[in-house]
Amino acid sequence: MAVATAGQNQPAGIDEMTEDQKAIIEMVHQFVDEQILPNAEEYDAEDKFPEPIVEQMKELGLFGVTIPEEYGGMGLDLTTYAMIVEELSRGWISISGVVNTHFIGSYLLMKFGTDEQRDYFLPKMATGEIRAAFSLSEPEVGSDVQGIKSTAVKGDDGSWELNGQKMWVTNGLGSAVVFVLMKTDPKADPPHRGMTCFITEKEPWKDKNEGEFAGLEIPPKIKKMGYKGVESTELVYSGYRCADERVLGGADGVNKGFGQMMDALEVGRVNVAARGVGIAQRALELALKYSQERKTFGKPIAQHQAILFKLADMATKIEAARLLTRKAARMKDAGQRSDLEAGMAKLLASETGKECVEDSFRIHGGYGYSKEYEIERLYRDAPLLLIGEGTSEIQRMVIGKKLLERNKI
Ligand SMILES: Cc1cc2nc3c(=O)[nH]c(=O)nc-3n(C[C@H](O)[C@H](O)[C@H](O)COP(=O)(O)OP(=O)(O)OC[C@H]3O[C@@H](n4cnc5c(N)ncnc54)[C@H](O)[C@@H]3O)c2cc1C
Repeated sequence: MAVATAGQNQPAGIDEMTEDQKAIIEMVHQFVDEQILPNAEEYDAEDKFPEPIVEQMKELGLFGVTIPEEYGGMGLDLTTYAMIVEELSRGWISISGVVNTHFIGSYLLMKFGTDEQRDYFLPKMATGEIRAAFSLSEPEVGSDVQGIKSTAVKGDDGSWELNGQKMWVTNGLGSAVVFVLMKTDPKADPPHRGMTCFITEKEPWKDKNEGEFAGLEIPPKIKKMGYKGVESTELVYSGYRCADERVLGGADGVNKGFGQMMDALEVGRVNVAARGVGIAQRALELALKYSQERKTFGKPIAQHQAILFKLADMATKIEAARLLTRKAARMKDAGQRSDLEAGMAKLLASETGKECVEDSFRIHGGYGYSKEYEIERLYRDAPLLLIGEGTSEIQRMVIGKKLLERNKI
């Protein structure tokens, strides 16, 4: 399908890519057109894990995009990863959900892991042999991460006992490793100084773990309005034993988990921003097509100025969101502080995703309300981006705080 600013069948934003980026993005674009878009409706309707698509993604190396080559990954930067995520989300945001928490897990290992942890996990993660989940949220806590209640206590044998309930864990059932934040010093003031990230291993697709992973149960997946196919679950840790070597970063990582997780959320925000751009781009593609086919009052609806202006606004907002997302990614790649830009990108792109999907839905008239049309799925999928990795309100808090910090008088 034609892409607004790039021309027929070309990935959007291709003109700003390096030759290497063009090659990989064209490959992913084609994969999305041929494998994801034609099949997403079926997996969405049945809320079924898209196993064949995920298998092909493993073959394409998409689980190891940012993992260094020495561990079997592609060793690419966050900017290229964001471009890939935009394309995958153009196909179906659930597919980017399958790789998102995995990407965050590999980032945590690369930045904070011990040599042994990197050597043990990264090669298997690069190929997708094992997949990772990322768990902060609890039934009573989402935005206010310092309020978590789950605990880990070190025993006489040096291992840790984990107890508590986690909520909304994307890939909670199919993952083999969960990066989970636990309270390790309940007296710490402020509380974030007493939190640790544990690398907890489990049996993929098993709701009740036994043997070496006993003490971790996964209740039935949460039923959702959209974002189907990829499972969101609770995790119940109850006397789960975690070896001391599985504290992220080893002994130095004890009580450092909050900062590590917040660092990972910063790159996670760029990733969610890219998803917002991708879903908005798809909404625009659908609107461009439908508005040139559908006629009212003797002409295609695209010829009515009210519709044309909607298309113009959508394309403009998408371009702005894409540029901001890529800017935040490039700053991070260059080792610059990008917390402000990542928050801005996430805020703008997720809101753009929701707004463009709604505009495209309106352009589809009554048919947009029918399951026969793809926009109906996008309409259920887009709101997630306003919530995950920090709500829009939380992004505004981050942006506002950083603004004041940088502009102190
Ligand atoms: C499909 C899905 C997948 C998810 N996957 C994961 C995952 O893999 N791992 C994980 O750890 N979590 C995951 N989450 C959880 C997600 O990160 C939280 O839902 C999110 O952070 C919001 O937390 P909450 O739902 O507890 O809302 P709350 O924190 O209770 O917030 C409720 C409302 O109050 C607003 N609010 C809160 N505090 C303030 C404030 N100080 N000022 C102004 N407004 C405020 C919020 O913006 C929101 O509108 C997922 C959620 C969903 C829906």
